[in-house]
Amino acid sequence: MGNIDIMDDRLSNKIAAGEVVERPASIVKELVENALDAGSKHIEVYVEDSGLRLIRVIDDGAGMDREDATKAFERHATSKVKNEYDLFRIETLGFRGEALASIAAVSKVQMTTSTGQVGTYVEIHGGEFQQVDGAPARKGTDFQVSQLFYNTPARLKHMKSLQTELGHCIDLVNRLAFSHPEVSFKLVSDGKPIVETTGRNDQLRNIASIYGIQIAQKMVAFQAENQDYRIKGYVSLPEVTRANRNYMTFLINRRWVKSYAIQQAVLDSMHTFLPIGRFPIVVLEITTDPQLTDVNVHPSKQQVRLGKEASLLQLIRDTIRRAVQERVTIPVAVPPK
Ligand code: ADP
Ligand code: MG
Repeated sequence: MGNIDIMDDRLSNKIAAGEVVERPASIVKELVENALDAGSKHIEVYVEDSGLRLIRVIDDGAGMDREDATKAFERHATSKVKNEYDLFRIETLGFRGEALASIAAVSKVQMTTSTGQVGTYVEIHGGEFQQVDGAPARKGTDFQVSQLFYNTPARLKHMKSLQTELGHCIDLVNRLAFSHPEVSFKLVSDGKPIVETTGRNDQLRNIASIYGIQIAQKMVAFQAENQDYRIKGYVSLPEVTRANRNYMTFLINRRWVKSYAIQQAVLDSMHTFLPIGRFPIVVLEITTDPQLTDVNVHPSKQQVRLGKEASLLQLIRDTIRRAVQERVTIPVAVPPK
């Protein structure tokens, strides 16, 4: 008799959760990305105690019917990838089908969802269904995650200060707002509004909402393309800098990614203008054929492999350098209250 067992779903979900759900902000990311994939136009995020007590995401997207509302919590359950062909041309933010299973494994979830017909309420604690019921038929999904890591005390102990965890949540909502300027976002922390964007599909307006109007007035626009890539966005004039790199946002096909190479290209393009140890504020949107990109590198989907990367980096360097030299800013009106 051999010694090897195949682990049950509860155990494997908890293990996967270790990768997908690092901290409250990871849950905010997965839930908001699901809301975006569902075509939402208004997304509200509420956190209490930096998300450790409660994370609630309310969207007005497609919602789920009763069958999907329970299936969604199974491991590898996804409506977004049907076959291998899809995997190599991903256009949705999600595709791994493991976020909800992972989140449910390490928290208590209450979800109400509806496609506009009947609604469904699902409650699931530590991966175990507690209740599945009818609910009001408001189109969209209301997803509440409470007592995060209540059953994984080692992970809970690992959390940084509430201030730090909230900072990560705010940062995430900001980046997602940049990636989807046509969607209005609201983030409320312990009852206090923190971020609010208009959803009017105006990136400069978004920058004003997120970083402030003074910053938006010091941003220059850029736009260019080559055979494989289209880039556009805003970069701050060299006199408006920050002491860290966190104000540089890179979006590839509307996904926020972290890329050392792209960051370096941006810094190279400005290095003769930037004081040492200072960094620009940038929102850079890159569009390309999804077949040129591979986001299936890590479960967090924040790293990406790019085909023809050198041509993209050159395009970024040339375009941003020119924009910063030309210094053409755009007047930003103070929004009516
Ligand atoms: P993935 O996003 O990779 O498909 P998830 O575990 O995040 O995996 O979600 C599983 C499925 O549940 C999604 O494919 C989608 O069909 C459904 N779903 C999750 N959240 C929402 C939502 N807010 N609105 C509509 N459908 C949702
Ligand atoms: Mg998802």
